[in-house]
Amino acid sequence: MRAVRYHGNRDIRVDDIPEPECKPGFVKIAPEWCGICGSDVHEYLIGPETIPSPGRPHPITGETVPIVMGHEYAGRVVEVGEGVEDIAVGDNVAVEPIIRDNSCPTCTDGHYNLCPQLGFHGLSGYGGGLSEFSAVPAYMVHVLPAGVPTDVAALIEPLAVGWHAARMADLRGGESCLIVGAGPIGLVTLLSLKVQGAGEVVVVELTDARKAKAVELGADLVLDPRSDDVVAVLADRYGQGVDVAFDAGGHAETIQLALASVRPKGRIVNIALWEHPVEFDMFSMLFKESNLTASCAYCNDHADVIEALASGAIDVRPLITARIPLEEIVTGGIEELMHNRDAHVKILVHP
Ligand SMILES: [Zn+2]
Repeated sequence: MRAVRYHGNRDIRVDDIPEPECKPGFVKIAPEWCGICGSDVHEYLIGPETIPSPGRPHPITGETVPIVMGHEYAGRVVEVGEGVEDIAVGDNVAVEPIIRDNSCPTCTDGHYNLCPQLGFHGLSGYGGGLSEFSAVPAYMVHVLPAGVPTDVAALIEPLAVGWHAARMADLRGGESCLIVGAGPIGLVTLLSLKVQGAGEVVVVELTDARKAKAVELGADLVLDPRSDDVVAVLADRYGQGVDVAFDAGGHAETIQLALASVRPKGRIVNIALWEHPVEFDMFSMLFKESNLTASCAYCNDHADVIEALASGAIDVRPLITARIPLEEIVTGGIEELMHNRDAHVKILVHP
């Protein structure tokens, strides 16, 4: 079968490899749509980081490069392994790609997204969605209701990241929110906040295309820190600042802006994947008793996300900015996102 494999830095190929075996407890899927994630681009540019490099296999999968890519996908079940119940051949499914040991204290406590052995199907081994077939443990599989087609369902994984971040804010009804950065994760956080009962949601963004997308998706106000005094505008609009700020940027400037924008007792949720340690002003946090927390991937969020899509409460179609065949993964996918980033939110690949 054809599969997109990561061989190393700036080396992603479409290879011909054997089909995965559907072992007991596993489900074999024919992926129909798979999104390209910012982390895939990151691995291409400066990896391998999450992808296990030679000599450093992932502790659960035991695999190193070459690794089959693709962790944002949905498809059709073609085979069900021994012992799997409630999933049938022909079902449309979305994959929740978290690899965990399911046995450590963090996993048994229910926080499987924080397992010290955390990995991702499509980055850490066990195959991936950028291939004609994949086989995953049944615990990763969510059966889709009739109203959620597989192209929409390919967005469930990134949407779950925003959904979890919104949950981490512990919203009380109608609270004002700020999202710093309107990339894919900032935008899915915006969609999630609107459904989870936030009040006004303000977005801070630099590029025109992403500002427009934030407005299209329901942002109440979009500010540009080059022309707007964001902290002053928010203090004026909400009294002493927003209730909750999300940093989806991951830079010293973005976390500092998030910290400065919340009211006393306000909360800050970090959802960015940081490339470097940064300095920020803890002293200003002291005088507001700010509460800084973080949100990692998702955990028991998929059922709610699927319900939000099925009911029409969230429409992710405006996030899909291109569709390409598997063979164009590098030129039409990874490199398109590198060189034409602002024109895209999510590029879907049809394996
Ligand atoms: Zn664990």
